[in-house]
Amino acid sequence: MRALVARGPGAPLRVEQVRLPAPGPGELRVRIRAAGVCHSDLSMVNGTLAPAYPLVLGHEAAGVVAEAGPGARVPVGTQVVLNWAPACRRCWFCRHGEPWLCAANTTPAVPRGEMADGTPLHVTLGLGAFAEEVVVPQAAVVAVPGELAPERAALLGCAVLTGTGAVRNTARVAAGESVAVIGLGGVGLSVLTAARAAGAGPIVAIDVAEAKRDLALAAGATDFLVPDDRLSKQVRALTEGRGVDHAVECVGRAATIRTAWRLARRGGAVTVVGMGAKDDLVSLAALDIFHSARTLRSSVYGSSDPDREVPALAREVADGTLDLSPLISGLISLDEAPAAFDRLARGEGARWVVTFPD
Ligand SMILES: [Zn+2]
Ligand SMILES: [Zn+2]
Repeated sequence: MRALVARGPGAPLRVEQVRLPAPGPGELRVRIRAAGVCHSDLSMVNGTLAPAYPLVLGHEAAGVVAEAGPGARVPVGTQVVLNWAPACRRCWFCRHGEPWLCAANTTPAVPRGEMADGTPLHVTLGLGAFAEEVVVPQAAVVAVPGELAPERAALLGCAVLTGTGAVRNTARVAAGESVAVIGLGGVGLSVLTAARAAGAGPIVAIDVAEAKRDLALAAGATDFLVPDDRLSKQVRALTEGRGVDHAVECVGRAATIRTAWRLARRGGAVTVVGMGAKDDLVSLAALDIFHSARTLRSSVYGSSDPDREVPALAREVADGTLDLSPLISGLISLDEAPAAFDRLARGEGARWVVTFPD
């Protein structure tokens, strides 16, 4: 079958022929119908992470179960959303209500299958979803109604779960609270959407690309700012001089984490959703940490339990509570995916979603 393969950091992405094993005990073969181009895939090839190669990219996807291995219980034909952090339900974190920190999920690249020439292959986050098919443990899928459009279902597996979870589970944004969101990719836009649904306001969207303004306002922002040295003043002017109750960082850089810190009010909360590099150090003055009384924490996979929250989000999409249309920039073919990675790296658009013919 065909899959989007990275051969090494910085190497051009190519659609190549690969082979996957048949599903083993408790595993499923899923025919992919849609897969979103997420910033974490970029991190697999731009040097932020150092996974094993060759590597099938893609971890935000929906598909249909095509074959169940021995003992797997999800019926063939079920539409599923892929879960890149399946919880083992046995480790300390799982037993203490934090399945998103499951100790069993540690490696960005998992060995599975081979290239056409027999070279061992790896798949991103145990999925490798920019491919006609994946073979995954059944814990890595969440069933959703077949009526949900695959390109919407796909986004529930990463951007929407992450962004919505950051607002609802990590920051616990309440009605009437002010929010600033830095970085308006798929996750940042999902944060805006969830903040609006929570009744927050003002919701200040911040991105270096002026072209994101209309997207931001459509997704739920009340204000849009391109950051320059007036940013703190502008945000304070929108919040009676205090700064925001919640600053949500969706970039993953020390500089933007510092910005989020400065935008939060005294006693406010900074939530880091972006995944940064290990050598990018954030520096904060000790006196500032004490005096500002701010909270700084990260949100991994939206501090969510996908088995419970993906079906709930699917219901919100179905009944119109959650509008995902501002998030989807366009539907593309697998062959167009490398170009979509370039657009993502340049910060163009929201989510480009690869769809596969039936
Ligand atoms: Zn992702
Ligand atoms: Zn666990």
